[in-house]
Amino acid sequence: MAVCVLGAVVNGWSPGIVTRVFRPPILSILFAVLFIAAACTGERPTLIVSPVADDAAAADGGTEGDATSAGGTTDDEPFEETGTNGEREVEPADSDESASPPATLAGRTPQSTVPPSLALTLGGELPALPTDGVARALRTPSGVVVDVIDEVDGGYLVLTPCANEVVVSNGEIITGAHVVLDAGHGGSEPGAVGPRGSKESQINLAIAERVEALLTDAGVTVVQTRTADYRISILARTAIANSIEPNAFVSIHHNAAPDGPIGKPGAETYYQHRDPESRRLAGLVYEEALAEFSNIDIEWAGDTDAGAKFRQGESGDDYYGVLRRSAGVPATLTELLYLSNPPEEELLLTPAFQQLEAEVLSRAILRFLTTQDPGSGYVDAYPRTAPAGGGGGTSNCEDPSFG
Ligand SMILES: [Zn+2]
Repeated sequence: MAVCVLGAVVNGWSPGIVTRVFRPPILSILFAVLFIAAACTGERPTLIVSPVADDAAAADGGTEGDATSAGGTTDDEPFEETGTNGEREVEPADSDESASPPATLAGRTPQSTVPPSLALTLGGELPALPTDGVARALRTPSGVVVDVIDEVDGGYLVLTPCANEVVVSNGEIITGAHVVLDAGHGGSEPGAVGPRGSKESQINLAIAERVEALLTDAGVTVVQTRTADYRISILARTAIANSIEPNAFVSIHHNAAPDGPIGKPGAETYYQHRDPESRRLAGLVYEEALAEFSNIDIEWAGDTDAGAKFRQGESGDDYYGVLRRSAGVPATLTELLYLSNPPEEELLLTPAFQQLEAEVLSRAILRFLTTQDPGSGYVDAYPRTAPAGGGGGTSNCEDPSFG
């Protein structure tokens, strides 16, 4: 028997592992018996453990113990009034390096957990759009989208990207949309900067535009909060979402300052902690991202509590302004890769991967809009005290041309 127990340990069993994974304890005992019996018969049992358990079992609660992680902060706007940019600057590497797609992406195999019927097709009816003709937002001749505050003599009173109120006399009226996409940062606020100098703001926009194209092809009506490389405040982003009241509001970001290598994609999606539909949206994006990106063989970086989660500020409200100020509209803030991690930056610079991430986001959004799929990967985030990067305010903000 002792030999069998020793064999079970050699086979990979340990009481600690099993009791962490399996609750209640009876399951631990069953698996202990299984391992010991297997050791006696010379066979190795197979444990199938989901990489991220459901919200009831996945509390981490531990400390990161990594002095380089800067407290596990994400790179995103926590409060729109800070006016500071706390993004971590990373020294650019030699820029003459080739940007050809990595072999790991080209050789990937299609993921298999998502029903093929939902691969960028509708799983059900799309929600109805408003038919009242009310101007909720406006696309100026130069392509900038602005929130419409009111109809006035000579045009529309709108809220500009820098949160100024001006009258705009012409443009394309937007009366509704299924989805509002929000490409994070922009203009003088680049967001995270990768080791090769790539700007998060540009990658966010490139992927948001690809998502818009995919969703539009599927019959979904999409509006972007930011349509080019200009600054836009969180007030303006959320004003557009709150006026349009889309079925889903998705803020696209990429991360910096991970805890370290974690052996799986370090994707994170944040949701509004009081809104079950926001939670479901975040869980669907995480589920799609984990399924797809797990096929790519690179050294992934992440926080130890990667998954779908929420973060509260001191007031108890949602920490991130883009989620807090859009309360009432199901929203998620996505941080699907770490731009600060060199192999992930390499991926993000390739059109093939940008398209892949756009497919991930689009599939998740389509599933959210047309099914009741619950999503997965819900985790309890460990406590964070370090502030995330600033930005998203209005000080020194210069509005783009409206054409
Ligand atoms: Zn960001």
